[in-house]
Amino acid sequence: MDRPRFVIEAPEAESMAKQSSLTIPLLLPSLVKSAQSLARPPISKYHVGAVGLGSSGRVFFGVNLEFPGLPLHQSVHAEQFLVTNLALNGESHLNYLAVSAAPCGHCRQFLQEVRSAAEIKILVSDSDSKSNDYVPLSQFLPYRFGPYDLLNKDVPLLLESRSNGLSLSNESAGTDKLYNGTHGENSEELKRAALDAANMSHAPYSKCPSGVALMDDNGRIYNGSYMESAAYNPSMGPVQASLVSYIAGGGGGYERIVAAVLVEKDGVEVKQEQAARLLLQTISPECEFRVVHCIAAV
Ligand SMILES: [Zn+2]
Repeated sequence: MDRPRFVIEAPEAESMAKQSSLTIPLLLPSLVKSAQSLARPPISKYHVGAVGLGSSGRVFFGVNLEFPGLPLHQSVHAEQFLVTNLALNGESHLNYLAVSAAPCGHCRQFLQEVRSAAEIKILVSDSDSKSNDYVPLSQFLPYRFGPYDLLNKDVPLLLESRSNGLSLSNESAGTDKLYNGTHGENSEELKRAALDAANMSHAPYSKCPSGVALMDDNGRIYNGSYMESAAYNPSMGPVQASLVSYIAGGGGGYERIVAAVLVEKDGVEVKQEQAARLLLQTISPECEFRVVHCIAAV
């Protein structure tokens, strides 16, 4: 069976648009239904699909995720999934977004983390409106609180490249003598993937970056970075971000996640460890979870 696709390369998007006699922005709403079919909302059964066009010409999918047995705020919204998908693929900007239902307030806020967010063009594909006009995010959220209220303008925003300068301490780098879990042979690779994610983490408000790497029962590794919102609550946890990578990368049921590593700093104000453990234990009770503390370059 073909793996569901969450990224369409630019040349293919162009030829799809050409075949349907559409511009690329108007190709996006025609793909929203296929995005919706990939959603995983077992609580609400309400499938949300978001399809975005990045500045490279690639098209990205986002879907909503819900986790039975956990508080609702652990859910991932389709627009957050989409932005995470762009970040995972090194896309530098989101230009157009077609979504199956109007973006909720939480997502309008989360999108503020992208530079020039006000200019992102949004189309709600299930609205009764006959118009195919995209409307800028500034019209969805006219009085906005965002990164510039708290940060200098030269601080990298969500889709911009950065390295947080984190490394593993001597005791957690190299061969790990203390850790002899079932997946010990992949332990080093998993740890490195989590460190890479922590180095790309967008955490300019708390300055407490983190990243998670997951491994499935085929030994495949998926990583994701913690991403903060200026308004705090819409922040995306590192386990959620790694689940976006897992799903977009063709991962199956969550119970197939057999090992996970969280990399974060020790002794900081904002920690992911307990929330990460709770989420992983709930979705994949057999998963081996491990926390590795990193150090920041002086
Ligand atoms: Zn939302």
